[in-house]
Amino acid sequence: MKETISYLQARAMVSGAVYPVDTETVSLAECAGRVLVNDLFAADNVPPFDKSPYDGYALRSDDSLNASSEHPVTLRILEEIPAGGVPHYEVIPGTAVKILTGAPIPPGADTVVAYERTSYTAESVTLFAPSAHNENVVLAGEDIRKGELLVKGGSVIDAGVMGSLAAQDISAPLVYKRPKVGIISTGSELTPVGQALTPGKIYDSNGYSLIAILEELGCQPNYYGIVKDDVDSISAALEKGIQECDLILTTGGVSVGDYDLTPAAMAAIGAELLFRHVNIKPGMACAYAKKDGKLICGLSGNPAASLSNLFTIALPAIRRLCGIADYEIKEFPVTLANGFRKKSPGNRVLRGTLEFEDGMVKLRIPESQGNVVISSLIGCNAAAVIPAGSGPVPAGTVLQGFLIKKL
Ligand code: AMP
Ligand code: MG
Repeated sequence: MKETISYLQARAMVSGAVYPVDTETVSLAECAGRVLVNDLFAADNVPPFDKSPYDGYALRSDDSLNASSEHPVTLRILEEIPAGGVPHYEVIPGTAVKILTGAPIPPGADTVVAYERTSYTAESVTLFAPSAHNENVVLAGEDIRKGELLVKGGSVIDAGVMGSLAAQDISAPLVYKRPKVGIISTGSELTPVGQALTPGKIYDSNGYSLIAILEELGCQPNYYGIVKDDVDSISAALEKGIQECDLILTTGGVSVGDYDLTPAAMAAIGAELLFRHVNIKPGMACAYAKKDGKLICGLSGNPAASLSNLFTIALPAIRRLCGIADYEIKEFPVTLANGFRKKSPGNRVLRGTLEFEDGMVKLRIPESQGNVVISSLIGCNAAAVIPAGSGPVPAGTVLQGFLIKKL
């Protein structure tokens, strides 16, 4: 019997069926794009000491209180502190130090006057205006306070996280392993890329699209190649995949034809079937199952249908497997740059590209949105759902959208 479940229910069920993979320590330079395991707290203040933002003179603000153009104040220079240097003297009343950008404020001083606001010789500096307490001083901890939460565990290591880890002297953070995801392309009509096509055969494009998606998500794709339409062959591939990988993606053989044998193979290996039909198009037919705590996502063979289903149902589960704490799909309103002429009796997933137009971000959808089309996925970075029961949607329509890749 054909039982269809809602795509939101399917998505929640699938992401509830996986847990983050194991962890490992990795040298910081190799960590870009990996997922941090633990919260990162600041071990120290950044900057660690009060420092000067300018080239100028560090002095006591009290000494500058009465300075004016009519009554300039002259102070004796004790020393020069370059960036990376340390002070040797305390600034006492009537004295100042020459200070360079980034150098520590010496004891006694509490303000900095930039060169251009003074007149100076090698021995003395003359002030023409008061300078307030802490004026032109970058205070210790102004950027990061000791003990502050810098990055939450489960965050993807981007430029900001990477720099923060370096600033905390963390040279080998604990990160989640890159999940191994098996890819099995089923279909007796499939030919491996690199071999000549014989009549009736096509190339396995799905396997390669999935490799690209998984790489981008931070997984290790494990491509098992092509398996013919035969329950024993598919079962054997699934068994091997489950032993070697954290999650399995298959394509092909999930409809209700004579040669749609993936669900039968899932049953043959004792996998628990979760659902077979979801209320979206493209990508309605699928077969999701679980075996030994590992998720098997059985996708359609039709290229666009398989990816539409993967993006709408399985993406958050894969993100969760990677250790990403914020794995859920975030929907946001998107304005269509162009219309879609068909009526949508069911929920229709449109793929497209976010682009700037008239000062707004809009979703441009390629003309061909069919099941079998792979070329119209080129460059796509977002999707939007036309709700069931809608008529044709004109340009300017606002739909709920979500990202299908990092921008
Ligand atoms: P199926 O889901 O097995 O009924 O396949 C649906 C359609 O997708 C058929 O036209 C298949 O030839 C095609 N197809 C199946 N697997 C692939 C694949 N790996 N790459 C490209 N097309 C495929
Ligand atoms: Mg088939």
